This record gives sequence, structure tokens and C-alpha cells, in this order.
Amino acid sequence: DGALPMLIAPPALSTAPLEVPHRLLMGPGPSNVPARVLAAAGLPLLGHMHPQYLKIMDECQAWLRYAFQTTNELTLAVSGSGHAAMEAGIANLVEAGDPVLVAENGLWGERVSDIADRYGAEVKTTKVAGGEVFTLGQIEEELRRHRPKLLFLCHGDSSTGALQPLVGMGELCHKYGCLLFVDCITTIGGVPVFIDKWGIDVAYTGAQKVLNVPPGASPITFSPRAVQRIASRHSKVGSFYLDMTLVGRYWGVGGPRIYHHTGLISNVYVLREGLALLAEEGLEAAWARHRQSVDTLHAGLERMGLQLFVKEKAHRLPTVSTVCVPAGVKWDAVSKFIMEKYSMEIAGGLGPTAGKVWRIGLMGANANPANVTLVLAAMEDALRHVGFLRR
Ligand code: PMP
Repeated sequence: DGALPMLIAPPALSTAPLEVPHRLLMGPGPSNVPARVLAAAGLPLLGHMHPQYLKIMDECQAWLRYAFQTTNELTLAVSGSGHAAMEAGIANLVEAGDPVLVAENGLWGERVSDIADRYGAEVKTTKVAGGEVFTLGQIEEELRRHRPKLLFLCHGDSSTGALQPLVGMGELCHKYGCLLFVDCITTIGGVPVFIDKWGIDVAYTGAQKVLNVPPGASPITFSPRAVQRIASRHSKVGSFYLDMTLVGRYWGVGGPRIYHHTGLISNVYVLREGLALLAEEGLEAAWARHRQSVDTLHAGLERMGLQLFVKEKAHRLPTVSTVCVPAGVKWDAVSKFIMEKYSMEIAGGLGPTAGKVWRIGLMGANANPANVTLVLAAMEDALRHVGFLRR
């Protein structure tokens, strides 16, 4: 009959609708998604150039400017997880041969060094141990020595639990003709961030952490200084997909709208809902709620005889806590027990903290008294189970 024989048979898998377990995600992300946000993922698709969809993009932009505390025109959400925004920053601001200074105190600095190297930057690094942060004095010395065009700092390093102070960093960079590029993935919405006031030139965040949104569209903002730097490039941006001048045009910045790539539609719906919830609560209230939740968590953990990895209290990241695994305790036995008995995620370490800590996230809606009580109870039960606590 002319039909060709099938070369690949359908896989022997159940075709019943997908089911997944409910889990309390108390690790460093993703976090749980509120019902209203999740429901938006099920709304019908619109065309990516339909006026109704463009209006949703505009609303996202306006709420993002609030979340970032910026008037930056070039503020949008990159299509991709946090790494896409990280790469977008480097791809647009760096040209081959440019000196770039990366402050490395955890995994994220290392990642940025790798990405900058791939785009041909002359990468210089300055380091402190995991759990520690950089001082203005140390950064100034490095700026003077390397004269970089770009400095990277991670505001909240989820691999170590350190919160990098940023006040004064922007001014310092500008004094040396350098732009400031900051990872705010674990901080926007949970910790005070003032992009304009602090002189940050490029900052990005992710959807799936404090914003309680499924991963996919990652917010990023560029200062007029950064836009100027992009406009004066000698070479094309090395990534078409992440060329912010073109992506900006799709978001209505810098000229009439153009089609660049198909917008993430459903991911933008959910981002809109997450940002609306943040605006409804207000940044100050959200910051205070994270502060109270983490203070209660830390006090409870210390009462159990556990120690926090970041020694300096002021440098502890409120959204991701790193808790030292005591000698003789296997971190994964504790996490596994908590997952099996409580269906709750408590993560292990990453990069410099691998095998040394547990990472407990209090992100967005997950930062509440009920969850803190549950985490403490689950940790206590698990620590009895592994024999660290006696009855
Ligand atoms: N930076 C930080 C501080 C992060 O915590 C993460 C996510 N763990 C990333 C960057 C990367 O984001 P994503 O996994 O969404 O690509």
C-alpha cells in the first residue's frame, strides 16, 4: 500500500495523564508555586504578537521595574532559566579581549568566569573563601590593579549562603570606568535591592525562587550606562538569541516592536502573576516576612546544636541558609529521611559547600511561620533518627 514500515515503535509507557507528588520545596529553589500563579499556566495561549499578550508583557515590565527599584527602560524577562540571564549580561557587555573582573566566593562567580571566558573576555578573578564576602577596600584594590570594564558580584550566593553587601560598589565601579553586573537570583523580592540607588548597571533574577513562579522567564535590567556600552560595541553580540537590543525591541524598547523569537507566553503569564502577588504584598512587607522567618529558623537550628556556615550574622542570606553538617552525620541520610517521611526537600551543599552543609530555602510564599515550624520539626526528627540528637 506504499506505507513505509515504522522504524521506531511507540515507547512502552503509560499514556495516562501525568501525575506528580506534592512536595514542600524548602531547598534553594525551585520553591512552591501559589495556586493563582499555577492556574495562570493553564490559561489559553495568545499569539506572541497579539495586543492582549503585548499588554501582559508591558505589565511584567512595569512590575519588574518595581521589583528591581529601577527606572531602566531596558527591563524585561529573558527566555530561559537564570543561566540565560547570566549569559545575556556577559554576551551583551563583553567584547573579545575586554578585561572582566569576577569576584568569586562560590559557584556563581565560577560560572560567570567560565561564561565570560567563552565570550573571549580577559577574565581576572578575586576570591574569598565560601561563606565570606568582599569589602569595598578589596574591590577597589582589584579595580585599580586590573582596570576591568565589568565587575561581577553575586548578591546572594545560594551555594554558600552569603549575602554580599552592595552599598558603595556601584559608585566605586563608576569611579574606575567599570560597569557593575550583579546576580540577584536569590535576593529580588526577599532582601532589599535598589538597582538605581546602588548604581548597579546590570542585574538579573530567576522566576523559580523568591518569585514562586515556574522557571522559564528570567528578569534582567540594564542601566542607561549599560545600554550605552552595548550601543558602542565594535562587534556583534555573540549570541543572536540573547542580543538584548533585538530582544528589547520585542519588549517595546528602543523602537517599534519586532518579532525576534516567539515569546514564552505561558511563562510570561505566570511571571505576571508572581509579580502581581509581590506588588500586592509590597516589597517592604515581603522583606520583613523573610527576615522574621529566617530569624526564627536560625534560632531553632541553633537550639538543636547546629551551626550556620556563614559566621558573620550580617552576611547571612535570608532566603538560603547553609547549615553545617555535624561531624559523624551523613547529610544525605537526613535529607532522604525528610523527603521520605515529610515529602519535604532540604538540599545538600553545592560547589564549595558540597557534602558540608544542608541548604534550607525560605523563598517567597514559602517563607512563613508554618513552614519554619515544619522544617524545624523535620530536622529535629531526622537528627534523632541519625543519632545526632538523643531522646
Ligand atoms: N545564580 C544563583 C545565585 C542561583 O541560585 C541559581 C540557581 N540555583 C542560578 C544563578 C542559576 O539559575 P538557573 O538554575 O535558573 O539557570
